Amino acid sequence: MDPLIYGAATNIARDVRDGGLTRCRSAEGSTAAKIEALLNYLEGVVFRHGDAAVDGLVADAPGGRLPVACRTGCAWCCHQDVDVSIPEAILIARRRDAAHGPEGRPSGAPAHRPAPLRVVGRSRAGLPCPLLSEEKTCSVYAVRPFACRTLLSSDAVLCEDALKSAVSGKADVYMKSYGVLQLVGCAHRAGINAITRELGLQHDDVSLVSALSQISDDKDTVERWMAGARVFTPRAGP
Ligand code: SF4
Repeated sequence: MDPLIYGAATNIARDVRDGGLTRCRSAEGSTAAKIEALLNYLEGVVFRHGDAAVDGLVADAPGGRLPVACRTGCAWCCHQDVDVSIPEAILIARRRDAAHGPEGRPSGAPAHRPAPLRVVGRSRAGLPCPLLSEEKTCSVYAVRPFACRTLLSSDAVLCEDALKSAVSGKADVYMKSYGVLQLVGCAHRAGINAITRELGLQHDDVSLVSALSQISDDKDTVERWMAGARVFTPRAGP
């Protein structure tokens, strides 16, 4: 990797970590209070910082503005199970439960149980993300995870082809996304994971679909995680 890009990603992760630790340490009392501070920081600061970084990279690319095909109601890429940090999963579960109840099914969305299929497996089965609404919009858009925030495509036709070829079992078609934007997302997620590591909590990347199911099915999941238990299955490998 280009040392400049590596250095920039490292700086992002470190800044996210340091800002979060400052907020967590200034939160009075229990681990629960620190996690509240972390979730507020994630939603109020880190997501905005990530969005601004992506906007800047799109607008100021060396060869001119990057073409972005992503539009409201285009959801070909929302047929996967993305990697998230545990705080992202908890924040999304809260928002989902507030809007739709713990079943987490946006009105009219398919009544499938969120199955723990992997990124590719979910596409091959044609299963949408359980957070995708009938209108093909993200029902937790404001708090969608970094994996989704930073996945921008230059060609919606290729996104459609990628999903349809996966479902039909044909040869793989790959969407055209921007690796540098996804690296920005990974760096922010790494910063969040570094905060939970410093707090002595499980800090793995996890499957969004599996984590949401687990939080719904076992009401003590988040409490046990905050007590230091290793409750989520880490995401490993492709
Ligand atoms: S969380 Fe939202 S943006 Fe991400 S895959 Fe699910 S529906 Fe799409």
